[in-house]
Amino acid sequence: MVTPMTAPPAPAPLPPLARPLTELRGVGPERAAQLARLELFTVADLLRHRPRRHEDRRHFCTIAELRLQEAATTRGRIVAMGTKTFKQGSQSVFEIILDDGTARLHCRWWNVPYMRNYFRMDDEVFVFGTPKALKPRTIDHPESEVIEGGEESSIHINRIAPVYPLTEGLPQRFLRALVWRALLEFGPLVPDPWPDLARVAGTPWPTLAEALQKLHFPEVPADIETGRRRLALDEFIELQRDILARRRRFEAKARGLPCAGDNRWMKPFLAGLGFGLTNAQTRVLRELQQDLGGAYPMRRLLQGDVGSGKTVVAGGAILMALESGYNAALMAPTEILAEQHFRTFARWFEPLGLTVKLRTGARKTDDDPLLANGATLTVGTHALIEAGYAPQRLGLVIIDEQHKFGVSQREELLRKGNYPHLLVMTATPIPRTLGLTLYGELDWSVLDELPRGRGVIKTFARTAERLPKVWDFLREKLTEGRQAYIVHPRVEDTGKGLKAVTKEFASLQSLLAPHAVGLLHGRLKSGEKEGVMAAFRDGTVKALLATPLIEVGLDVPNATVMVIENADQFGLAQLHQLRGRIGRGAHDSWCILVAGVDNAAGRAKLKILEESGDGFRIAEEDLKLRGPGELLGQLQSGAPDFRFGNLAEDGELVRLARELAVKLVPPPGGTA
Ligand code: ADP
Ligand code: MG
Repeated sequence: MVTPMTAPPAPAPLPPLARPLTELRGVGPERAAQLARLELFTVADLLRHRPRRHEDRRHFCTIAELRLQEAATTRGRIVAMGTKTFKQGSQSVFEIILDDGTARLHCRWWNVPYMRNYFRMDDEVFVFGTPKALKPRTIDHPESEVIEGGEESSIHINRIAPVYPLTEGLPQRFLRALVWRALLEFGPLVPDPWPDLARVAGTPWPTLAEALQKLHFPEVPADIETGRRRLALDEFIELQRDILARRRRFEAKARGLPCAGDNRWMKPFLAGLGFGLTNAQTRVLRELQQDLGGAYPMRRLLQGDVGSGKTVVAGGAILMALESGYNAALMAPTEILAEQHFRTFARWFEPLGLTVKLRTGARKTDDDPLLANGATLTVGTHALIEAGYAPQRLGLVIIDEQHKFGVSQREELLRKGNYPHLLVMTATPIPRTLGLTLYGELDWSVLDELPRGRGVIKTFARTAERLPKVWDFLREKLTEGRQAYIVHPRVEDTGKGLKAVTKEFASLQSLLAPHAVGLLHGRLKSGEKEGVMAAFRDGTVKALLATPLIEVGLDVPNATVMVIENADQFGLAQLHQLRGRIGRGAHDSWCILVAGVDNAAGRAKLKILEESGDGFRIAEEDLKLRGPGELLGQLQSGAPDFRFGNLAEDGELVRLARELAVKLVPPPGGTA
């Protein structure tokens, strides 16, 4: 084979928006380097540089109207300026005095000597800042901008002006003029990724070019949000399109294993449970059976508030796979929870003649890596991901408390089989918005009903002074035969924390005597942990002092009191999870949240829990209180990052984006 020699192809001309900023008038190497520090390289980058805020320069207050501690924009002419140094020149303050005919304003910059290069006597200056004193009127470190005459003035004054994030040496007005000119020249060339948007959405939407114009140089204040929403929508649509495309690629290549079962073990299983399924459980089991017999491997998220009975549903799905001659694996985030599931499933399945195995870091009930048997459930922790676990005919993978795992761990377990079905379960109620973003490639099932006959959970927030009363109450309940959890954030895995625990443990033992108290924390060896849990389960230990480690999954229905110390230090969702450890039996339950008196924000948070037991409402509040970043971090790392979109507030947009993505990007051969 001879490869003909050819000249390298001439580079295709760059599409206009991909042009480097150096091609714009006024951008030399120095400016380009400054812009690069803001990650602005191309025209497209510049057009998407989001203003930090806007300043309404159509009306602003006079210097005389400035008020103490109220941020405001004003303007005036420089009537005096100078620098003072002290401490042998190591400290300095640069000051300008502005006069607008109504009063004078002192603007000071501490230890920023180069500020003096930006001003000259008689300059007209805009300043934005918060007056710290009125006699004389003083603003420290205002944002400032010199007003210059000429044709450019219409960009900077008498309008709502954008104020951009900057970097050292890059003047605000330079950047603003650059964006202005870029919009003028390239705005008409901005391609619209969704030209059909307004028609498909059925509501008016600006074009992308219009949105950019509104975002940077709004005519009226409302334009800013109109523009932002369009840009946010684009981000969300793009993400949803990727998610859908991924899902379609998956469906094109993967065939579902036939795992719907034949009810042979299901019937005796349900009959032996000792309770009837809730309507929600029955409905979800049907959904699962559909998936397990479907053309594609199941990819489903099961959400159910704490105590809604997800384990039984998982059990049903596992039986379907086992009945079909496939093995199943269930992964839980902690050893304690894996042990608990192992016991539960052994109790349910062994009477049916099925094998249940356990595989954790500490314990393997079977070391034979190759399971030839066709009807085995293996329950485990992360140990399931390790090489030692090599199942044959893996038909179904279930991940419990999914939010404690990363996507990559889930994928690793799936790779142990040949496109097995996947069910992920979580009790952390995920607001729909976040769910579409984080788990958008999964189908959803929701257990929106708690089993009947449960006692009520009453929640009280108390200050630490009330603790003696709390212990009295607790002793009363223990004497009645109930059990309790005491959760302490200081009970952590650090050496220092351990000392605190031991002390806390000793004092709790004497406070609650003669009732036996157990101690559970992450530093215990597996055997010790299981020993403590066993004693708590069988009732020998009445009260358990524990770390938030018990947050996930534990199910001891006789435990009806939960005391959480320093509760204001936990997030809302986590408190709700912890509270979910009680209220699992027929007796009424009490959750007592103990917090410091001096933390108003903390108290507001606890009030939400006092008022609501609804995990979804609590999750929405959590999202508002803490912002999506923290909640996302907690739910799963690697969550998408949006420049214009805000997951805490743009719920409607995310939903719309999902609908539009389906319509705008029809499946190959499908109908839009
Ligand atoms: P979670 O959804 O938090 O994982 P579990 O599966 O641990 O909840 O179930 C909580 C408790 O409720 C368990 O003791 C379980 O046996 C019981 N349970 C589950 N379903 C029902 C039902 N339909 N009726 C009565 N009790 C149930
Ligand atoms: Mg559970």
